[in-house]
Amino acid sequence: MATDGSDPVPPNQTFDTILVLDFGSQYSHLITRRLRELNVYSEMLPCTQKLSDLSWKPKGVILSGGPYSVYWPDAPHVDPAVFESGVPILGICYGLQEIAWHFGKNVLAGEKREYGHAYLKVERHGDGEAGGHVDTLFQGLEDDMEVWMSHGDKLSHLPDGFVTVATTSNAPFAGMAHKSSKYYGIQFHPEVTHTPQGKTLLKNFAVDICQARTDWTMGKFVDQEIARIRALVGEKGQVIGAVSGGVDSTVAAKLMQEAIGSRFHAVLVDNGVLRLNEAKQVKETLTAGLGINLTVIDASDRFLGRLKGVTDDPEKKRKIIGNTFIEVFQETAKQIAADAHDSERAGDIEWLLQGTLYPDVIESISFKGPSATIKTHHNVGGLPKDMNLKLIEPLRELFKDEVRELGTKLGIPEDLVWRHPFPGPGIAIRILGEVTPEQVRIAREADNIFIEEIKAAGLYRNISQAFAALLPVKAVGVMGDKRVHDQVIALRAVETSDFMTADWYPFDGAFLKKVSRRIVNEVNGVCRVVYDITSKPPGTIEME
Ligand code: GLN
Repeated sequence: MATDGSDPVPPNQTFDTILVLDFGSQYSHLITRRLRELNVYSEMLPCTQKLSDLSWKPKGVILSGGPYSVYWPDAPHVDPAVFESGVPILGICYGLQEIAWHFGKNVLAGEKREYGHAYLKVERHGDGEAGGHVDTLFQGLEDDMEVWMSHGDKLSHLPDGFVTVATTSNAPFAGMAHKSSKYYGIQFHPEVTHTPQGKTLLKNFAVDICQARTDWTMGKFVDQEIARIRALVGEKGQVIGAVSGGVDSTVAAKLMQEAIGSRFHAVLVDNGVLRLNEAKQVKETLTAGLGINLTVIDASDRFLGRLKGVTDDPEKKRKIIGNTFIEVFQETAKQIAADAHDSERAGDIEWLLQGTLYPDVIESISFKGPSATIKTHHNVGGLPKDMNLKLIEPLRELFKDEVRELGTKLGIPEDLVWRHPFPGPGIAIRILGEVTPEQVRIAREADNIFIEEIKAAGLYRNISQAFAALLPVKAVGVMGDKRVHDQVIALRAVETSDFMTADWYPFDGAFLKKVSRRIVNEVNGVCRVVYDITSKPPGTIEME
């Protein structure tokens, strides 16, 4: 492990890095993911990125797909220096057309769009005139392979210096390679799972053609990131950060603790709308379990006091909770800073920890088209600028599954590593209507039973998010021979891979029966349980 004095070095300077230049395809980020699954480090930048502005040198460049046509007057084009840099290039779909355009302006609209599955025939050249390297992209792959296509434009002819390495019945230039330089283009998408051998093709490019090392592992990342944090923060620097009990903030906090010990101050704000016993459990896990220097602030009364009487607008609830959170966090930060300053340990608190992940970074930099302005990243998470803190984002290079792997590596319990997402406004947005202490009690108890049963049935990891919501209506029931008029709990459980679309989870009847019986029997104030069978869209995952 590096020492405290080393320079802060980002991963692209220590790991061999494949640069994905994004032309706006919805799959661009998947290229980066697939490469990292192969233990090759990869980053994505907008297609307009100038190589000379980078402080590092990529081992290879991949040009992504995109919704434009290269022959449009305002179509995006890659920095021509990419072709002079000597690095291997792989163009995918638009990327192939971009290479062809660069070398021969030979792309036009096809008569037929090609969308979906296609059969590809690989053409091998051996060691002949073209040189053996043109075969490397498809080495080890079957001669006939299934691929996934999504294009309308086509190459009219091969650009000078290239040979065809693959064809489909509709696309005579479905794969091309340059005879002397390591330039390759493919019309299909190797990054999607519908191209079963796509990952091997990406490996052929990254490992065999670009010669990138396959050393991107979480173990190595941890060591480097800890060294980087130490160098960044210095020997006295102090960092503060909010934790929620969720996987991202816990992993970020544990990493800080490993790097700078108690000079990292974690703050958990109990807003009164956390889940049953959550504040207590998070405190136990983070302090006793993980050794994190944590301050828990119980501000339940302040939050619940401000939520009183808010019945109409869910947005208002979110705002109240968000603003109160900032207020409490700031007060706490001031207090911690004052204490830290007085103690011998320290300098001032200069840094704010933020659990930003790579998809947020990608979202803020991805290429949105010739006229779209690139959004700046919401980096301070709503915290006011006058706090004057510099940001530290140790997870900003990682995808969610990498964060989980890192969490496991850092000894964070399984339960927490795989925890379902939980919204900032907590169960306040799962209590439709007014949030009162009594409504919080009911929603919490019902939710706890539901999650307990999901875990007991071994279904927790199959479900992406599950919770109980309290509906602000009363229904009639008979309990103990007495007519009751009580509230309704709605259960929601969804499966999704990206939270953009989701489907409700198909529990079996016996499971639902058990949960419903327990909730009605054990939670005072509930006489009915319903199951939400709305997909997203049109529903959202949360109810408010
Ligand atoms: N617009 C180009 C075409 O239709 C590229 C499409 C893509 O990259 N998916 O051929």
